[in-house]
Amino acid sequence: MIFGKIEKNEKIIKFNVEIQCVNCYKKVPGGMKSGETYFNTQEFNKDLEEFKKTYHCGICRDKKRVRD
Ligand SMILES: [Zn+2]
Repeated sequence: MIFGKIEKNEKIIKFNVEIQCVNCYKKVPGGMKSGETYFNTQEFNKDLEEFKKTYHCGICRDKKRVRD
């Protein structure tokens, strides 16, 4: 999945983070892609933390959709 932003013609950095669903605690291996200039910046790290804090796996996301 693409994380953050990738500019046109920018070099793409691929990285892996272990993300855990905040609802069912299922661990999901996250194969992510990001643009070179954004990767590992302060903003990037902040966004990644935020992303991990709010992550829902596909199953929980579907459940939420039904409930809403
Ligand atoms: Zn879940």
